[in-house]
This record gives sequence, C-alpha cells and structure tokens, in this order.
Amino acid sequence: MIHYDCIIAGSGPAGLAAAFELLSVKQDMKILLIEKEKVSSGGLRNDCKMNFTWPIGFPVEYWNREDSSRYIERVEQFLQPDIMPQKNLSTYQKRASRIGVELLMIRQSHLGTDGGLALIKTLLARLAAAGVEISLEEELISIDKNTKTAHTSKREAGYDQLIVAPGRHGFDFLRRFMRENDIAYTDNSIDVGVRVETRLEHYPIVKDYYDPKFIFPERTRTFCTNSGAAHVVQERYTAANGQTYYSVNGHAWSHERPPNGLVNFAILRSVEFTQPLASGQDYAEFLASLAMLTGGGHPIMQRIGDFRMGKRTTKDGLNDDLYDFEPSLPSCTPGDISLAMPAKFLRSIWKALKQLDTIVPGVLHPGTILYYPEIKLYANKPVFKDEFFMAADDIYLIGDGAGTSRGITGAWASGLRAADGIKRRKGW
Ligand SMILES: Cc1cc2nc3c(=O)[nH]c(=O)nc-3n(C[C@H](O)[C@H](O)[C@H](O)COP(=O)(O)OP(=O)(O)OC[C@H]3O[C@@H](n4cnc5c(N)ncnc54)[C@H](O)[C@@H]3O)c2cc1C
Repeated sequence: MIHYDCIIAGSGPAGLAAAFELLSVKQDMKILLIEKEKVSSGGLRNDCKMNFTWPIGFPVEYWNREDSSRYIERVEQFLQPDIMPQKNLSTYQKRASRIGVELLMIRQSHLGTDGGLALIKTLLARLAAAGVEISLEEELISIDKNTKTAHTSKREAGYDQLIVAPGRHGFDFLRRFMRENDIAYTDNSIDVGVRVETRLEHYPIVKDYYDPKFIFPERTRTFCTNSGAAHVVQERYTAANGQTYYSVNGHAWSHERPPNGLVNFAILRSVEFTQPLASGQDYAEFLASLAMLTGGGHPIMQRIGDFRMGKRTTKDGLNDDLYDFEPSLPSCTPGDISLAMPAKFLRSIWKALKQLDTIVPGVLHPGTILYYPEIKLYANKPVFKDEFFMAADDIYLIGDGAGTSRGITGAWASGLRAADGIKRRKGW
C-alpha cells in the first residue's frame, strides 16, 4: 500500500488551494489528489465569476470580516483576477435604500465558463509539474481512522493528513463520512428560490455591475447573476432515497462568445430550522421531489405575466407575441411555481422581486421567466476541533460540501485555511 503525506478528495477550488498551499512550504510533500468525476476541478467549470469582498461566499458562522479579508488577499495574490469596474450605481443605491434594500458593493472578476476551463488546465498542469499525483475517476469511499487508510474506488492508500473537499454534490457522501467517523454535525439551514431570466434591457444594471448583490428583508437576496452569453442550466442530484431531481443554476461564457441578450440571476431565501425538523437536506429533497412531481420530472418555468394573474404558463402561451424571448433552458416544464413552493419562500421572493422592480424598473416584464427550484445545499455544519476546519485528528473538511464556503473564492480560502492548520500542527 502506498503511503501519502496528504490525500485530498475533491479537485474543486477548495482541494486545489490546499494542494498549492502545502506545496508552497513543503515542495517534496507526497500528495494524492483524487476526483470522482472524469473531469476535474468541480465548480470552477461554471461561469467562474469570483467575489473578493466579505461576506459574499464566506458563511458568517465560520468567517469574520477580518479573517476572510486576510484570506481574500491571499486568494487574490494567487489567482491574479482582473477586477471589473463598477459605475453609475448611485441611483440604484438611492432607490434601494429608500425601500429598505441594500446594494452591496463587491469586487468581482469574471472568466466565463470557457475562461474557467482554461484556468483549470493551467492549475492542474502546475500541480502535476510540482509532483502531485492527480487521479480522475477515483472516489473516496471511506477511511479507517485508526490505521489512517483511505479506501477509494480504485485502491487502499495510507495518509498522514486527509483533506475532504467534495463540494455540494458530495453532500450526502460527507454526511455518511461524518456519521461513520463520529464527527458531529448539524444540517439545519436551507436556501430556496427561483432563477429569473429576462432580456438585458429589462435588467441593465448588469452593464455597470456584473453580479449585483441586493439584500432584501426576510433573509432574501440576489445571487449568481450571469449576462453576455448567459444560460440557465440544470444540475442533477440524487436524493438519499435514490430519486433524481434537478436544481436550476446559471452560467455565462466569457466575452469572447457572442452575447445572446439575456440575463439570469437567482433570488434565494434562507431559512434555519429549529425543533422538530433537524435536516435541511431532507427538507430540500422533499421540496425538490414536489417540484419534480408538478413538473413531470423537470424543473418548472413560469412567465411573470402568468404568475401575476395566478395562472400556469402553458407550452402554447410560452412564446406568443407578448412573451418575446425563448427560454434558454427549454427542457423545463411550463407550469405553476406556486403549486410547488411553500408560501414562506414564495411570499418573500415575490416581495423581493417587486422591490427589485422598483430599483431596476422593468425586471418584472410579463415576459420574464421564473425557473424553480433553485436549491443550495451547503447546510452541513461539522463541529470542528479547531479554527482550521479540522473535524477529527488529521482530517479536514472544507469547501461548499462542509458548509465552510459558498462560492469559488470562499472555497479557495477554506483550502488555504486547512493547509494553514496542517502547517501549524507540523511546525512548518
Ligand atoms: C452551474 C454553477 C455555476 C456556478 N457559478 C459560480 C460562480 O460564477 N461563482 C462562484 O463563486 N461560484 C459559482 N458556483 C459555485 C461554485 O462552483 C462552488 O462554490 C465551488 O466550486 C465550491 O468549491 P468546492 O471545492 O467546495 O467544491 P466543488 O467545486 O464542487 O468540487 C468538489 C469536487 O469533489 C468531487 N467529489 C465529490 N465527492 C467525492 C469523493 N467522494 N471522492 C472524490 N471526489 C469527490 C466532485 O466531483 C467535485 O469535482 C457555481 C456552481 C454551479 C453548479
């Protein structure tokens, strides 16, 4: 059995950052980076807009402004992003503050999905050149904590340090992993919402601020705005009961691709559960299965014009003369979101949309499409033994799957922080 100084499971930004940071202090470190998919680097493959201001992407349970700002500086130093200019925002800001909404000013860069792929290629080549063994289509299955052995889909391997960074798709895996290894965790929060798609002229703010972050009352916010060559996409998940469900999301290509004149963004509401409901994940899966039931196995889409009148969108009505653009995710089922979304979420989101329409008039054009469900699974909250995300001796849980980040920059920072923990314990 081969023995490694460090095994990293998951090649998303969290795992990559940990590998780079460890190598920066110990060039001869023997690192194995395994990735269960055929392709690597997880969520870096999507849109790749990065936020470089606290608290975007940095869950406040684990990050305060001071810590995250120090880490953001390090992420920035490594990734060297081109920060996009923001301009002409004072009118939007004034309108927002008049109605109790905040427009956060966040430093951002945007590579686009194609730019993200190029970045991944460069990063992996650098790691390989530095001697990291990168193994695709290899999944961490379980470990034996006592002998420090990792069981993967391909082999058994010894480790001195283990970093687990499985992302949101590894949510279920991580829960099982924590249960098997006596790592206590809670999972009591959830973000649920819709993805809004409209024409660029109905949401022109994106020309001045790529991903505008509006914070509405009732823990509701805009999230992940895409424009240029922008598309709504669906992500496939498997629930604990084996059922498949989809959550919508969005991405955009870089400015090298011809624009399609559309914008998409999410409006999400966060809820934290108390007794007797213990699991945000179980609740998310229940909501998603209701959405799949009403959408015939697909996400639902509804035009604002129909939503306002309290009627479903139909296939025929979807593209008549009033409704002037084709949905970018046509596989969704035209339907009625209010049949599938609980009132607590629906009311807050509709209220937020009306406020947004006051700030950016036109976004609620009758042709605007709402896609449902968009559900964010970062509810796992392991009980850590130290501030460096060590959950058991020599085992670190990081990235979105462990709830320590909510975006590329935060995930990268969580990888740096775990590596810092290892460095400190080793006295490097
Ligand atoms: C469509 C889409 C668009 C997005 N756009 C943006 C954006 O523009 N900006 C932004 O900041 N964030 C965006 N995100 C979110 C972002 O991708 C994540 O926040 C980030 O990638 C999290 O990093 P991570 O390293 O924790 O996990 P991931 O990037 O998800 O990587 C985890 C990796 O671990 C692998 N894995 C899982 N389980 C195992 C296992 N048992 N063994 C081995 N490997 C395993 C997975 O296959 C995956 O490749 C987007 C996400 C999606 C889906």
